[in-house]
Amino acid sequence: MLALQFLSAPVAVVGAGFGGLSAARELQRRGIDFCIFEKQPALGGSWRAVANRSSRAQIERGSYYLGMPEGAECPDSLPNYSSRDAILEHAKDFASRHGILERCCASAVQAETLHSS
Ligand SMILES: Cc1cc2nc3c(=O)[nH]c(=O)nc-3n(C[C@H](O)[C@H](O)[C@H](O)COP(=O)(O)OP(=O)(O)OC[C@H]3O[C@@H](n4cnc5c(N)ncnc54)[C@H](O)[C@@H]3O)c2cc1C
Repeated sequence: MLALQFLSAPVAVVGAGFGGLSAARELQRRGIDFCIFEKQPALGGSWRAVANRSSRAQIERGSYYLGMPEGAECPDSLPNYSSRDAILEHAKDFASRHGILERCCASAVQAETLHSS
C-alpha cells in the first residue's frame, strides 16, 4: 500500500465536523496537502445541522474539544456542557488558527454525486 506521504494529489476530506477537522489537522501535521469538501454552507458538522439553541455537549469540560496538537489545553471559551454556539465558535477558531479554514470548500458537491456521474 502506498504511504500517504508519497501521494502527489491532495487528500479529499469529506465533511467539516469534528472528524473531518481532526483528520485535516493530522494531514497538515504530516505535511500532506488536503482539501475539505463540506455539503453544508459552513463547518461544524452535526452541531450545525442537528443541534439547536438549547443543545449542549453531554460530557464535562476538558473531555470534548478539538485537541490537536496532542496535549493542547481545552480553550477557556468552552465551558462545562458547552452550547451549540460555543462549539461552533471553537470549531471555527480551530480551523482558522491552523489555516484549515481556507482549505475548506463549503456547499461542496457530495462525493456520492461524483461517483455516480
Ligand atoms: C447536541 C449534540 C450533543 C453532542 N454531545 C456530544 C458529547 O457530549 N460527546 C461526544 O463525544 N459527542 C457528542 N455529540 C456527537 C457529535 O456528533 C460528535 O462528537 C462529532 O461532532 C461527530 O463528528 P463527525 O465529524 O464524525 O460527524 P458530523 O459532525 O456528523 O460531521 C459530518 C460532516 O460531513 C458532512 N458530509 C456528510 N456526507 C457528505 C458528503 N457526501 N459530501 C460532503 N459533506 C458531507 C456533513 O454535512 C457533516 O458536516 C453530540 C452531538 C450533538 C448534535
